[in-house]
Amino acid sequence: MAAPWRDVVRDEAAVREAAAVAVDAALLAGVLMRTGEQPHSSDVVNYAPFTLLPSAVPQALFEQAYAVQQDFNLLVDTISQNKEFLEQTLASTIKVDDFTARLFRIYMQVLEEGLAQTVFLGINRSDYMFDSGVDGTTALKQIEINTIAASFGGLTSRTADVHRLVLNVLGKTTEASRLLPNNPSKGLALGIAKAWELYGSQSAVVMFLVEEVQRNIFDQRCVENELWKRNIRVIRRRFRDVFEKGSLDDSRRLYIDGQEVAVVYYREGYVPQTYNQQNWEARLLLERSRAVKCPDIATQLAGTKKVQQELSRPGTLEKLLPDHPEAVARMRATFAGLYSLDEGEEGDKIAATAIADPERFVLKPQREGGGNNLYGEELRQVLEKIKDSPERTSYILMDKIKPQPALNYLLRAHSPLQVSECISELGIFGVYVRQGQELVLNKAAGHLLRTKAIEHADGGVAAGVAVLDTPYLV
Ligand code: ADP
Ligand code: MG
Repeated sequence: MAAPWRDVVRDEAAVREAAAVAVDAALLAGVLMRTGEQPHSSDVVNYAPFTLLPSAVPQALFEQAYAVQQDFNLLVDTISQNKEFLEQTLASTIKVDDFTARLFRIYMQVLEEGLAQTVFLGINRSDYMFDSGVDGTTALKQIEINTIAASFGGLTSRTADVHRLVLNVLGKTTEASRLLPNNPSKGLALGIAKAWELYGSQSAVVMFLVEEVQRNIFDQRCVENELWKRNIRVIRRRFRDVFEKGSLDDSRRLYIDGQEVAVVYYREGYVPQTYNQQNWEARLLLERSRAVKCPDIATQLAGTKKVQQELSRPGTLEKLLPDHPEAVARMRATFAGLYSLDEGEEGDKIAATAIADPERFVLKPQREGGGNNLYGEELRQVLEKIKDSPERTSYILMDKIKPQPALNYLLRAHSPLQVSECISELGIFGVYVRQGQELVLNKAAGHLLRTKAIEHADGGVAAGVAVLDTPYLV
């Protein structure tokens, strides 16, 4: 891939000066996080980690990612309404994976009672890497779709300005003027506002369901503040608040602290550690309610890695979206090789292949949030151990994407300034709203570029591995 900053990246004096400007610009622009030491207060904050330089992204692949986002919105929404597909696809997984099984149980409970919810809101982020072929070509390959709590749409709405300034400081004014504006927080808020409006109660609020430890609160505030600008009231509550104070009335309207809730926007709830018995009960209460959940439990299940793997099977997309052959082709073009480890011959074969050549694959459990996947020697050891046990079924295998690294500086508070070989992951935010059977909104809402040093196989920004970036299209 092109290396547009070859001349400055090794100029130590220029880099040092630009980095000082960059950090202050990030603080001024609000690219912020609470600190690890004081995660419960905004008295002490620091800048969220980011790259000194924007990273080169092939324009054609960037456009391809945007062009396929409405298709993925449609696909996720379609799966969320297909009980048979979810049931069949997750049948083997829920036998061995307790977390997915509990989510699935809530899904079945809610269906049995009958849905009170009539308006549906999806906010997702489809993530990609740029796979570099031996012939020098690059291809857009999907890593995963996040259907719950997809983050950094807020902070990244502010990074392009920072990078524009940095390029100006480095004398790259033409390049600076080419950085694209990007405002996912506006797009996400638009979707939430639409769902709120269709819910149809002026006095009802939007509830952000937030974590116990809220280091990334500023990212969420960006979206929140867009809603306040539209005169939509926002409250922030945790699962335990819902357990203690949440209730449903006769028509399953959700109330908390005397306020009716129109929309529940989950920024929590995707890892097993979140849930004790009380929090599971709170989740069930929310799912049973008439409030618009973003996402509802079915849409969360549609984002599991097992579903992703099944989608890659020939014929599956065609069956799910029989009237959309072009959308199917666009989506399939972004799929990497994905393999089931279910018991049987197919699973035995691919397990043996991965044990023999672990560098070709990534081993993924049904988890979100970074840091759970296995690579290389560790992949081989784990697979060797579980290859003849049902536990194997809780994982999937995926072809490892191998992007071309580029030099950059990862700016992190309290860390020395040093050049790193880096690779990037592009995410496109998708937003859609469905009322009954009709999709009334379906949009791409902006992008997120995250970059990490190549020595880290896994992990996102929140996990402390990747940093925020801005695409520079080449
Ligand atoms: P999570 O739900 O934990 O975010 P992901 O599937 O996004 O799981 O994987 C986490 C990280 O691992 C990604 O951000 C990416 O850096 C790396 N990764 C995942 N899949 C692949 C792959 N097929 N090839 C190369 N790296 C991958
Ligand atoms: Mg991910």
